[in-house]
Amino acid sequence: VSEEEKTEDYLFKIVLIGDSAVGKSNLLARFARDEFYPNSKSTIGVEFQTQKMDINGKEIKAQIWDTAGQERFRAVTSAYYRGAVGALLVYDISRRQTFDSIGRWLNELHTHSDMNVVTILVGNKLDLRDAREVSTAEGKTLAEAQGLFFMETSALDSSNVAAAFQTVVKEIYNILS
Ligand code: GDP
Ligand code: MG
Repeated sequence: VSEEEKTEDYLFKIVLIGDSAVGKSNLLARFARDEFYPNSKSTIGVEFQTQKMDINGKEIKAQIWDTAGQERFRAVTSAYYRGAVGALLVYDISRRQTFDSIGRWLNELHTHSDMNVVTILVGNKLDLRDAREVSTAEGKTLAEAQGLFFMETSALDSSNVAAAFQTVVKEIYNILS
């Protein structure tokens, strides 16, 4: 690795999208700060959080954007999506309605950002298996049909949270390098 390459800066904008209360803010809190809020309100959402990651020995900064709860009013603005190169499209495995919204979120994502935005479909709240309304197979099938990565996570017990973010960042890095 040359000196020049070492000092090269990578900054990837990644957006969190999906219905209200699926756990977007907590996925970010778990990933960036290893925190969890059992009774979080939408107000905990920050505009974005920058997280340094190491991919193949390169330092990459992931600038991860969270909504401030405006998805409740279906009013996520185009500024939110502008310049995004990655997206986590989140639903709650214990609420089918949030899985049924995925198509709408994908349309919105593709309307406001590049078609090539690297996207992972995330079934969150894996710890609520006993209340599961969406099977793993259904999630996988939808992801395959839409050309998305797929993972089930739990912001509560940390399962797959870092892996979900890393999957997106690694793929962006692979495309750009
Ligand atoms: P957002 O509206 O998508 O940002 O969702 P939040 O992160 O605010 O989470 C909504 C609610 O779901 C909060 O009460 C969280 O504590 C809870 N929650 C988030 N992630 C998980 C999870 O993985 N498991 C469980 N059991 N609850 C979660
Ligand atoms: Mg939130």
